[in-house]
Amino acid sequence: MYKKRFDGRKFDEMRPIEMEVGILEQADGSARFQIGKTIAIAGVYGPKEMHPRRLRKPDRAVLKCKYNMLSFSVTDRKRMGPGRRDKEIGLVMNFALGKSIMLDDFPKMGVEVHTEIIQADSGTRCASICAASLALAHAGVPMRDIVSSVAVGEVGGSVVIDLTKKEEDHPDGATDIPIAYLPKDDELTLLQLDGKIKPANLSKAIALGIEGCKRISDLQKKALRKKYSSS
Ligand code: UDP
Repeated sequence: MYKKRFDGRKFDEMRPIEMEVGILEQADGSARFQIGKTIAIAGVYGPKEMHPRRLRKPDRAVLKCKYNMLSFSVTDRKRMGPGRRDKEIGLVMNFALGKSIMLDDFPKMGVEVHTEIIQADSGTRCASICAASLALAHAGVPMRDIVSSVAVGEVGGSVVIDLTKKEEDHPDGATDIPIAYLPKDDELTLLQLDGKIKPANLSKAIALGIEGCKRISDLQKKALRKKYSSS
């Protein structure tokens, strides 16, 4: 049984979170999101003309999300270029964010979201979603609400929030459940599960994740307000 977390946190405690809106000059919207040692940056381009033209949708904009983990972001240098995992996470981000964006306001157009992981200690897809959602808001893309995201799971039999890489590799086993949440609709827009978990612990983990997302959502809104009050 996992009784005390490696970094001394409580089971329901997330790592320290920092974020900043408007970090890139050339993007229409941008943000940095850091949770513990995991750092994601996001740049949004659009809504703009959709290329290639054959992928245009007559009634709405197409959302394209790209996720990339930089070679030096992890201890074992990652091979450069998008692998299967990066492509999968791009698709996952599309699902998680698509629901929040008023894509039908922009027929035939495209919205590009690029996220880069510059340092990774688990939870990178969640950090990317949080950074991307902030960057979309900064780009002025109409949205129902900001999407928040965090991983929950089970480590050595205990339900925890915001797993580190060391926890994911726990010798007694770990289950990682990244979730994304749209507070306005009280709706999960992402729920993945890597591993095994008892049904009772799954409900407990999801409830813990939703609480975490609500806290992140408050911080995201604070960061956006800070950006606009300073400019
Ligand atoms: N990781 C790594 N090399 C890789 C992919 C992942 O070292 O090529 C590490 C990294 O710390 C990452 C963690 O494994 O955050 C967990 O990866 P996972 O695929 O579960 O996604 P994440 O939790 O980052 O969303």
